[in-house]
Amino acid sequence: MEKVIPLNLGFTKIYLLRTDSGYIQFDTGSKHNVKKYLRFLDDYNILPEEIKLIIINHAHFDHTGALKTIQKLTNAQVLVHENDEEFLVKGISAEAQPLTFLAKVLISTVPKSWTIYEPVEPDIVIQDEYSLYDFGLKAKVIHTPGHTLGTVAVVTEEGDAIIGCSAHGFPIRLRSGFPRVAMDEESVWKSWERIIGEGAEMIYISHGKPFRAERIKKKLRKRQSKIEKQTKK
Ligand SMILES: [Zn+2]
Ligand SMILES: [Zn+2]
Repeated sequence: MEKVIPLNLGFTKIYLLRTDSGYIQFDTGSKHNVKKYLRFLDDYNILPEEIKLIIINHAHFDHTGALKTIQKLTNAQVLVHENDEEFLVKGISAEAQPLTFLAKVLISTVPKSWTIYEPVEPDIVIQDEYSLYDFGLKAKVIHTPGHTLGTVAVVTEEGDAIIGCSAHGFPIRLRSGFPRVAMDEESVWKSWERIIGEGAEMIYISHGKPFRAERIKKKLRKRQSKIEKQTKK
């Protein structure tokens, strides 16, 4: 059985990571996704209490909306980066900055009522990185700001990297790549470098299909040579 289990909730994909002592969940989906989520648990024969930890990729409602409900159901601890903590505690979505026209249109269609959710007090608030060994997974959570300032990724020692919205497959594109929504583009590049530096081989994202890390490496190389050319001029 695979270690990384994607649960496709519709617009957002969340993940379950199988550990020696249960599961670690990556994101929760929006508040409208709970029924679908429960059906998935049922299909996979996973009991809610087997989920020991919920890692929040970042505090946008499509990743956190169902958090309170799922926290109650599973009794899992909740982990978030300190930069996105306040949004969880307030039950609101962090600011979203579209980088393309289509992303802007998409964001503008979201009703305000969707973006608020039941507040949650996190149990674990991280800064630079956090080991998941105590949760039975040879992996760590690393800070990968850019999409929001508190976005994180999980990278396992086997090379699976669950990076959430540090890459996007939307809106309408053939191949996932640079996020279409980001507070800080420069930070996204740096975070990509870090994800690769941690040994990522397979990349799993929240909106789009998984892809090989080579795609990110290529983009990083291209950018590097562009920068080098510019500095030579
Ligand atoms: Zn987001
Ligand atoms: Zn998202």
